[in-house]
Amino acid sequence: METLDPRTIMLMTTLMCGAMSIVMFSVYRSFRREVHGLGHWSAGLLLLVCASFLFSMRGNWPDAMALLGANAALMLGIGLSMLGTEKFYGQVPSLRFYTLVCCLGVAGIAWWLLATPDFSRRVAVFSLVVFFFYARQAQLVLVHGERHFSSFFFGALMLLQACVVLMRGGMALRHGGANVDLTVAGTQASIYLAAANFMALLLTVGFMTVATRRLQMILERRSTHDPLTQVLNRRGFGDAYEREKANLRRKGQPLTLLSIDLDFFKSINDRYGHAMGDKVLAHVARIIGGALRESDYVARFGGEEFVVLMPDMMPHNALGVAERIRALLREPNGHGLPPCTVSIGVACQASIQEELDQLLSRADAALYQAKENGRDRIECDLKGATAARSMATAAGDSGR
Ligand code: GH3
Ligand code: MG
Ligand code: MG
Repeated sequence: METLDPRTIMLMTTLMCGAMSIVMFSVYRSFRREVHGLGHWSAGLLLLVCASFLFSMRGNWPDAMALLGANAALMLGIGLSMLGTEKFYGQVPSLRFYTLVCCLGVAGIAWWLLATPDFSRRVAVFSLVVFFFYARQAQLVLVHGERHFSSFFFGALMLLQACVVLMRGGMALRHGGANVDLTVAGTQASIYLAAANFMALLLTVGFMTVATRRLQMILERRSTHDPLTQVLNRRGFGDAYEREKANLRRKGQPLTLLSIDLDFFKSINDRYGHAMGDKVLAHVARIIGGALRESDYVARFGGEEFVVLMPDMMPHNALGVAERIRALLREPNGHGLPPCTVSIGVACQASIQEELDQLLSRADAALYQAKENGRDRIECDLKGATAARSMATAAGDSGR
């Protein structure tokens, strides 16, 4: 096999990291509020470019500038990527650890480069520092990463990098620096260098993979949730209903729906202002959410109307939940919010054929009845109740 010129490989890496840094910077500019850590990743890649450039100046510039500078830039760059990953996972970046490790690393390399030149020890110091940075990122993914391909990929890359640098450091100490000198032209060194540079590219792909996944989740959440109250919106609720209806088909579990409307909400707005009205809406959403089970869904259908979907719930039990919501709203809220009451209409899925619109209109009719009968009360549409009981009995489950 032809040996590759280390300088050519270095140049390729510089160009690749430069291009990746630009990509990352543009993603950072567009999504810095949504995804944290992108700026650090981008700056880290830029430092890798600087490191490559400085390294290529070896021989032309004094070692104190070219080699020490390249090593320092590389350590700082990989360290910055660690800070970025910490920010990405919502952690406070460990600046002290970063500064301490980088200072010790640069001091060690300077000592074994300028005072008592020793290539093996230099490689060992560098490897140890970089190992810490990669291992910390692998640990972050392990603890905070979601169960998704992007996290597995990113975590595996970090782990692999940590192992590779640790092995390189160990080899340098045990067998001497010549074995791991990347600047010596030779088949083994070429393969090692090419692999190391390919990893630089892969790391950027790793950053992009987790960042894109995060963005996907943010956008999905935005399209299915109400920004004011953080509960589902109409689209998110529709999706949840379809999923639960599939369960109804399979298991015959009754589906019960609550239609909840704040009483005289307009007068709260008029009296305390729209901003206070918004706070009341967010508070009511929290109260409703707090009265439900994990498996229930709550949505805001515009204005001051909330809808709750309760799978595997018979109407008589749903009445208990509705009562609990009313009772919780009567308790002092402790946030200085004006008191408010709600009227609630309850309806149960009458048949497998029934669509969400029909179920909603029956719950709304019950709600209208509650308003007619004086507000701050609950009314139940009885049409679906009998059907729900027979569906549940057929499924061998009496509903909860
Ligand atoms: P009722 O007991 O009959 O339901 O009376 P109401 O005043 O609650 O009902 P109405 O439909 O007359 O008024 C609803 C009000 O909700 C009118 C509108 O200003 C207010 N509203 C709708 N959306 C929002 C919102 O996002 N924020 C705030 N603060 N108010 C909203
Ligand atoms: Mg109202
Ligand atoms: Mg209304």
